[in-house]
Amino acid sequence: MECRNCRYENPVGSRFCSQCGKPFAGMEGYDKVSLGEYDEANDMIANPLTEDYIYDRDASLKKKSGRQGGIFLRLVLIVFLAVAAILAFYSVDLAVATNQKRTEEAVMLANQKKEAEELAKLENYREKYGTVVSGFEEQGALIDESVASIGKLNLNSFFKGLGLGTAADGLVDRLLDVSTVKSMRENSQTLDVLVGELANPPKTFEGKYELMEKLLETEKEIVTYFENSVTSEEREKLEELRVEYTKLITDINR
Ligand SMILES: [Zn+2]
Repeated sequence: MECRNCRYENPVGSRFCSQCGKPFAGMEGYDKVSLGEYDEANDMIANPLTEDYIYDRDASLKKKSGRQGGIFLRLVLIVFLAVAAILAFYSVDLAVATNQKRTEEAVMLANQKKEAEELAKLENYREKYGTVVSGFEEQGALIDESVASIGKLNLNSFFKGLGLGTAADGLVDRLLDVSTVKSMRENSQTLDVLVGELANPPKTFEGKYELMEKLLETEKEIVTYFENSVTSEEREKLEELRVEYTKLITDINR
């Protein structure tokens, strides 16, 4: 390429005259120049038109700083990722542990509450149970009294045999008081209701509850015997029932 200014012959693709320094922009051949691949080994850019190599200072600088910068950036990235990974791991670990702890605490609290409720229920039951048992004991005293009266009734029969019949009638009425039998029956009905209220007892009271029901049955049988006229046979049966009743009262108090 000939310079328009000084006529110096420059190589094809030159951008400036190497003699006078004028630019070749706009001149024929100038636009055909395109730079080739960067040759790393020679630190040059190949010129496909001349097959010459042009030293590219900018590319060289870019390459070096780029490489150094790349290493530095990669190191920063690796450290950052490592820290992020560690933080993520520990935060997940901590979250899981915290959640687990909360769940355990909630379960423990629920269990404690349940235990407290059961204990309160048991205490409530114990109290009602005590009331019912003392009711049975009172009824037992009434039964004893009435059975003793029947003993005196037999004595009255003996008086009758002696011809003291009329005189002894008043004594019979007084001995076997009808009102006693009536109150026994009422007490029995009250106890029936109370035992019904105590149905579904806690485990510790299940056996005692069965005894309670037996007591109630025995008592009803005794009351039935008292309500009718008592023969000597019935009296024997009554005595047996009273012994059973007393035994049940003792068992239920254990
Ligand atoms: Zn020139």
